[in-house]
Amino acid sequence: MEKIKMITPLVEMDGDEMTRVLWGMIKEELIKPFVDLKTEYYDLGLEYRNKTNDKITIDSANAIKKYGVGVKCATITPNADRVTEYNLKEMWKSPNGTIRAILDGAVFRAPILIDSIKPYVRTWKEPITIARHAYGDVYKDVEMKIESEGKVELVFTGKNGEEKRELIHDFKDNGVVLGMHNLNKSIESFARSCFNFALDSKQDLWFASKDTISKKYDHTFKDIFKEIFENEYKDKFKEVGIEYFYTLIDDAIARVIKSEGGYIWACKNYDGDVMSDMVATAFGSLAMMTSVLVSPEGNYEYEAAHGTVQRHYYKHLKGEETSTNSIATIFAWSGALRKRGELDNINELKLFADNLEKASLCTIDNGFMTKDLASLSSLENIKVVNSFEFIKKIRVNLENLYI
Ligand code: NAP
Ligand code: MG
Repeated sequence: MEKIKMITPLVEMDGDEMTRVLWGMIKEELIKPFVDLKTEYYDLGLEYRNKTNDKITIDSANAIKKYGVGVKCATITPNADRVTEYNLKEMWKSPNGTIRAILDGAVFRAPILIDSIKPYVRTWKEPITIARHAYGDVYKDVEMKIESEGKVELVFTGKNGEEKRELIHDFKDNGVVLGMHNLNKSIESFARSCFNFALDSKQDLWFASKDTISKKYDHTFKDIFKEIFENEYKDKFKEVGIEYFYTLIDDAIARVIKSEGGYIWACKNYDGDVMSDMVATAFGSLAMMTSVLVSPEGNYEYEAAHGTVQRHYYKHLKGEETSTNSIATIFAWSGALRKRGELDNINELKLFADNLEKASLCTIDNGFMTKDLASLSSLENIKVVNSFEFIKKIRVNLENLYI
């Protein structure tokens, strides 16, 4: 076949460890033979981040702002061990955090469902997409241990000298305090990203917080969502035939468990962190969870939800066989290529993205899968394959779709 032509380059962000190994192979085996791949390449591998004092991460985020669509490999977020292992000049920040701070918006995580892996929750039939706010709250908090008797207050000092005070607690004994914040502007972009994604994917949107207890903080989230919905999205939702509804977080949990799935569940930053791991695990595996960051300006960054699979990488380095699941990384590529196809109006590229996903899932349905899936699958006659055999099998199925 003739290779599919692209118009605008994808922003390609390479990463670390086992996922970097898979990244190269996915490109060579599953994309380049079919697509005349155009990318602007950014190496976010830890060595190069260290070499550029992390400038490369900032450059890649700005490139997404320029071109609109990026695809990212999992990367190491350095801790003390990594500083020694890679001889780092500094404990560089999480690349995802840096990119989120530049693009703003929300992270959408959705499980990939296959027939032979049943969710732990029997009623779930369609994916549940978690939309996680990408800024603030406990991730930008200030904390204090109280180790003697005394008062703790919230103090606001205005530019004009105005002062507002609120007693947090009059401590008679040891304790702890925490101060956190959010910004209306960031909550507004979170809301818009969620409403846009709901329209894009034609799914209902739920949002939940604890506004009955947090009458100013959480209530502000609720009010902002309501106002933006009423003013900007109500009619569009009606046209598409989808709904937005708000409920308390505890009510939401009960409804989620009893639901059939097939909607987007918007969560504040911490709720989203916790609930996305719960949803991923209950649907089957973190290796089957996709993730896309959507900015309020409509920029998209696709990736897998899992990390660099370090343990497998060390085995790979020792020359041992690995059975690492590349599905979520493949779906990051298909998601990004499909979006590029939509934006540039290239039908063959959109179709290729569909075919790539179809070939991947059909490989599993035919019984060829990595170890992590084999332990969950209800199929008989499973053949556990290694990391590379799995991708090769997908290649064969993909070629068959083009014959
Ligand atoms: P991880 O890479 O997600 O892996 C944790 C474990 O989950 C693996 O050891 C493996 O279990 C299983 N697993 C995850 N993905 C798999 C896959 N595709 N196929 C098969 N099994 C898979 O998390 P981690 O080991 O905690 O973190 C490693 C590095 O990734 C860290 O440096 C962290 O900073 C980084 N990280 C990056 C991102 C990102 O870039 N988005 C996200 C999270 C973590 P078994 O070992 O039992 O087989
Ligand atoms: Mg988490």
